[in-house]
Amino acid sequence: MKPIPFWLDREREVSFGALQSNHDFEVAIVGAGIAGLQAAFLCCVASGLRVAVLEARQIGLQACGRSTAKVTSQHGFEYASLIRNFCQEGAKLYAAANEKAKEKIAALCSAMADRANLEAKPAFVHAEDKQQAEKFRRKADAGASLGSRRILVRCGPARGPTGALRFSGQYQFDPYLDLCGLARLVSDSTKHA
Ligand SMILES: Cc1cc2nc3c(=O)[nH]c(=O)nc-3n(C[C@H](O)[C@H](O)[C@H](O)COP(=O)(O)OP(=O)(O)OC[C@H]3O[C@@H](n4cnc5c(N)ncnc54)[C@H](O)[C@@H]3O)c2cc1C
Repeated sequence: MKPIPFWLDREREVSFGALQSNHDFEVAIVGAGIAGLQAAFLCCVASGLRVAVLEARQIGLQACGRSTAKVTSQHGFEYASLIRNFCQEGAKLYAAANEKAKEKIAALCSAMADRANLEAKPAFVHAEDKQQAEKFRRKADAGASLGSRRILVRCGPARGPTGALRFSGQYQFDPYLDLCGLARLVSDSTKHA
């Protein structure tokens, strides 16, 4: 049996039947992952459109459900290369879009009864050796120049002597609860449309 994250080892929370008859929709979204369900939420709740979300498997069991359950604007160390390839302005736009998306996800979690177990947490990336630690220092400088709240921290021996980047203002959530919550919000607003 393939290993699954512990948050997927539970009873399924939501299930929707197949479409049984013809319906009129203005928007059809294929795939009930975080991308599809957030788009569906924005289309039906924010824009009042009639939306159908078509899912081939089960909600919450694909990439999002099997992710690392963190909601961060920190994706590895790409900011230094973004500055190199797209200048400071391009990298700033990317950083701002990621910040906005992170806060959007957090705001949507807050609209759910269980808040998808959202918790504000710092995120850490640990260096494996001294060379990587030096790279971190440069990346931390790049992030700071974009307004990112990342700092280089020293870690205790248990984490290795080389250091880590600490990103404040990030989140952890239960991706399965998030997708079920989004599906319910979309379904409820479709019923009332
Ligand atoms: C281990 C891991 C860690 C990650 N960490 C991060 C991270 O730290 N930060 C970050 O931003 N991203 C991270 N990601 C990536 C992130 O999780 C994905 O980019 C995101 O969840 C993708 O969402 P999605 O909605 O596009 O895909 P999915 O969650 O896979 O949803 C797509 C849905 O579409 C359905 N589908 C596909 N084809 C069809 C079809 N033809 N008809 C109907 N339905 C269909 C699938 O069944 C599925 O339910 C991580 C991913 C993994 C696996």
